[in-house]
Amino acid sequence: MKHIHFFFAVMAAAIAASCGNPATADLNPGSTVKVKCPSENFRLTCQVMTDGTSAADLLFASDGSSGYEVRFHGGAIDGTIKTGSLTGIRNRYRSIVPDNEWFNFELAVRGKNISVKLNDIEVVCYTEPEKPFRINEYSGMLLGKGECYFKGSIGLTKVKDIKISALPEGEKNPSDTLPPVDEQSDKVIRLQQQGFPVIDYHVHLKGGLTKEIAWGRSLNYGINYGVAPNAGEGGDGRMYATDEELYEYIDDVKLSPFLYGVQGEGRKWITTVKPETLSAFEYLFTDAMTIVDKKGKITRLYHPEEINLYGMNEEQYMDYIVDQTVKILTNEPADFYANPTYLPDAMQKDYEKLWTPERVDKVLDVLEKYHMALEINARYRIPSFDIIKRAKARGIKFTFGTNNMGADNLGRLEYCFEAIDSCGLTPDDIWFPSMSIRSTRKAVNYNNF
Ligand SMILES: [Zn+2]
Repeated sequence: MKHIHFFFAVMAAAIAASCGNPATADLNPGSTVKVKCPSENFRLTCQVMTDGTSAADLLFASDGSSGYEVRFHGGAIDGTIKTGSLTGIRNRYRSIVPDNEWFNFELAVRGKNISVKLNDIEVVCYTEPEKPFRINEYSGMLLGKGECYFKGSIGLTKVKDIKISALPEGEKNPSDTLPPVDEQSDKVIRLQQQGFPVIDYHVHLKGGLTKEIAWGRSLNYGINYGVAPNAGEGGDGRMYATDEELYEYIDDVKLSPFLYGVQGEGRKWITTVKPETLSAFEYLFTDAMTIVDKKGKITRLYHPEEINLYGMNEEQYMDYIVDQTVKILTNEPADFYANPTYLPDAMQKDYEKLWTPERVDKVLDVLEKYHMALEINARYRIPSFDIIKRAKARGIKFTFGTNNMGADNLGRLEYCFEAIDSCGLTPDDIWFPSMSIRSTRKAVNYNNF
């Protein structure tokens, strides 16, 4: 084997030296820079600098207009496709590399596997399946022939140290360990090509779901994950009680291909975590699955043994839950309401009857007033489509989320995708951190902890 590697190393050096390829490119709107390279089994490396507003693309397996595209675009998490995206195939919504600094870029095509790395961190690992799904606009996105082209579209994107090397046929991407998705039945690839953001904002790295497992699945499924620790006390699984632990969490995940948010847990979080610590996260959410009962006892509605009705009937207890939900969303400044309209086990069979339009309106009034989004929860399959439609009619935005307890119940947002079709959701209905107003709100200690 050794001599084969040596042969390819020599060949790689030969390609870089002999083709007269440009080493640098200043990409302005309309500019195109061609880089001769093989159509498969190659690696292109360079350094790139974006400025927060500029946008450019690297086309490969391309004739100059067809082919795959890798996006270069930084700036806030605002719904635009970010650096490292394989456009229309694996759209990414957060850039892990800073603007106005050079970063290392690598594109490697090994057989049918496409890998994109930013500063050595893999953000795309996509294997073109035997029967890829492509809408008309993307029908040219297939491996097999063509070369590379850098193209500018907005502002100035700088590229330097462009290098091409051939890779030996049969070489495998070591991180490509999961079978390719069957795109003939996959909903995610369809949404990607419609430009519909596919983000699960409510993923917990706990219960066996490690950062590495989540990373592999996110890249394989094509779903962006927002990973969030539970800040506060009293929830299930690992809790992050101190500011130090929360900063350590950010340090651990910020260079991974995730968004990172934080969940305020158990009602006391507004007094136990510093506001500046919470501000360091890209978004913040809370739910109303934990309430303070009539006698001031903290009650997790998902633990039936903790619930005490103190003589209230079901309708009265429902009013109490709605009242608590309104207090939580009014006084705890969050970006979105997660696990929304959740009811204790014993009441779930009456969900439709208990969530009357009047009760729904009380909750939606608060969301509208504070520009909060409504999570569509994939695991609990809530809220109902009827409530989602009522929220959409008010202009309330949505996030998709799972609230997994571990590795086993993190699915593929199936209920959220059903909601898109049943409720007519469009990309404009989706919330992004750039819309957050939580920094303008103050936490109110309404329970006098
Ligand atoms: Zn959660």
